[in-house]
Amino acid sequence: MQYTVDDNGYYGTFGGAYIPEMLYPNVEELRQQYLAIMEESSFQKEFNMLLKDYVGRPTPLYLAQRLSEEIGCKIYLKREDLNHTGAHKINNTIGQILLAQKLGKKKIIAETGAGQHGVATATVCALKGVECVVYMGEIDIRRQKPNVERMKLLGAQVIPALSGSKTLKDATNEAMRHWINNPVDTHYIIGSVVGPHPYPDMVARFQSVISEEIRWQLQEKEGRTQPDYVVACVGGGSNAAGAYYHYMDDEQVKLVAVEAGGEGVDSGKSAATTFLGKPGILHGSKTLLMQTPDGQVVEPYSISAGLDYPGIGPLHAHLFEKKRADFIHITDEEAMKAGVGLGKLEGIIPAIESAHALAALRKMKLAADDIVVVNLSGRGDKDLETYIKWGNY
Ligand SMILES: *Cc1c(COP(=O)(O)O)cnc(C)c1O
Repeated sequence: MQYTVDDNGYYGTFGGAYIPEMLYPNVEELRQQYLAIMEESSFQKEFNMLLKDYVGRPTPLYLAQRLSEEIGCKIYLKREDLNHTGAHKINNTIGQILLAQKLGKKKIIAETGAGQHGVATATVCALKGVECVVYMGEIDIRRQKPNVERMKLLGAQVIPALSGSKTLKDATNEAMRHWINNPVDTHYIIGSVVGPHPYPDMVARFQSVISEEIRWQLQEKEGRTQPDYVVACVGGGSNAAGAYYHYMDDEQVKLVAVEAGGEGVDSGKSAATTFLGKPGILHGSKTLLMQTPDGQVVEPYSISAGLDYPGIGPLHAHLFEKKRADFIHITDEEAMKAGVGLGKLEGIIPAIESAHALAALRKMKLAADDIVVVNLSGRGDKDLETYIKWGNY
């Protein structure tokens, strides 16, 4: 188990819990209880029931015939885009709302950038009748109006973060402040494999249902549980962690992590963290992040809001350092082309995040008998305006 978290909350040299002292009781309570709760049969039963009947799992593992012909090997798409709310994020928010209830928490807070995690959180809070407060940067609120209205329709309160650059990192700070002030009754739902231990491990476990399904689905279709490659995009890294999870210790399966190159890694407008980043502390954990020489976080850029994050989760920093996963960066242009291409080839319009993973297929050296699984993390409905602006279809 070389790639899972150790007893101290580290992945190699990355991870840990670098938090203000005031947050220690909350994080410690979670650390002491998360594994035991997740193993309870009543938890498992309800989690699996909701994944099946509410989220719509298992998601299909689809052999994309026309895409396979074009790329020149066998390509399967793991259809996380077919989940309720349109992406993989709900796997995690379902898990965390059940965990919060077991911990006796009455209120949920979350931060959101583009609003996707906010919507997934507001959804499960409505499902369980729990009060939900989502912090969002004031600028993001203006940029992501439909998701703001979705959260409100679902009964959540959206609070603007007015400090700093008024984007995701400021929303995170506000959420942390709220948690410090309301430690007893509130659970903080983090949306990716980031944050202080135990969040990265907990979120990876909730998302691991993705690779659990790939294993048996591939066995049914190909008579083997292992593909040659698993390809996924990495923002914070939760869909990738879920798609890799049951293959991490099986070195025969090659892992490909796709980051957002933005307008190019040398353009100053990029989110390719492993290429541009250095070790540092971000959102409570030691990881790789984009920073100035004196340690200020650099504003990332990508055409896809979900990949527009200045770091990666500590698990991925470790996979990168140990060379267990191959990290590729894809530009806005390459991603948009791949997204438009999938629509025409397969009748599936992917999220622009997922389009980065698809674009990576053209950069890999693939053999005709290779079996490749691409995690299609989400659907493109939310990105329609970006596709329209881009044109070229
Ligand atoms: C949020 C999001 C991502 C990026 O988040 P990860 O934690 O890296 O998975 C990728 N794809 C979609 C569709 C998303 O909504």
